Amino acid sequence: MAEKKTPEQDAPEKKAAPKKTTVSKTPKTITKVDSAAPSSPAAKPAAKSAAAKNAPAASEADKSSAKTKRILAIVFWVLAIACEVLALLVFIGKIDLRFTSQMVQLIAFLVIDFIFVVIGAQFWKRANHLDPVSEQNKVKFWLWNNMGVIVCCFAFIPFLIYVLFVDKEADPKMKKVASIVAAVALVLGIGLSYDWNPVSQEGKAQAEATLGDTSVYWTQFGSVYHLDTECQHLNRSSELFVGTVSSAIGAGKTRLCKTCAKNFGIEIDENGAITSIAAALTPAAEEASEAVEEAVEAPAA
Ligand SMILES: [Zn+2]
Repeated sequence: MAEKKTPEQDAPEKKAAPKKTTVSKTPKTITKVDSAAPSSPAAKPAAKSAAAKNAPAASEADKSSAKTKRILAIVFWVLAIACEVLALLVFIGKIDLRFTSQMVQLIAFLVIDFIFVVIGAQFWKRANHLDPVSEQNKVKFWLWNNMGVIVCCFAFIPFLIYVLFVDKEADPKMKKVASIVAAVALVLGIGLSYDWNPVSQEGKAQAEATLGDTSVYWTQFGSVYHLDTECQHLNRSSELFVGTVSSAIGAGKTRLCKTCAKNFGIEIDENGAITSIAAALTPAAEEASEAVEEAVEAPAA
């Protein structure tokens, strides 16, 4: 069980508000990220891994941020479905905005539908990274991670079915354009709504229990986090972000780099999730965790 920490138990290197620091050893610019309170220290990983399943996977700040993002996602998705209905009403001639052609109105509603679907999905994915759901409930886990795709299907498939199979009397040109636009939006929307880097509550808790407050590094567009700024996969990245593993996962970097895992003796499964820690982390990380242990024990003594 990861202990809830009081402020005085925080690691000595507790990060300040986002600021830029340049490491002299390399030309990389490293931006500190501190989105959440650091979790348990990287001490006694073996003992903690067993208890990790019950560890809180998200801090209160992450949870409330995730809740806001889920609400925003739902708002955008509702607006998207409303646009689908409007597109359908334009298609069957029930509404006509008159200032432009029916075709343009139709395309405009489908494009806005698409934009709202995708924006909603980004909020939803971010919420799932900040406050992941448990893997134990397989149905909920699947639904939560695929919600963006499901909504995208709801936002275009009913329209497509109506245009292609229900309405036999529509203008063929309009029918053709409407179905092509909706089909392209559906495919693109699924690709952009799907969470390519899902994370479970257990996966996040395991990563936090293993790495604790150890600094991890990631790039803006990467999907993994690293333990070493000199990792070969970071050779071409001049700008890095540094923070706890919680911050990294919150930023959508849900997996540990395979090369770093190997170099640091951390076992990961085929999906990149940490399964166990084979050996201690770097001497520096060990020292840090010992310092934290001492700090934790000190008040009690
Ligand atoms: Zn790496």
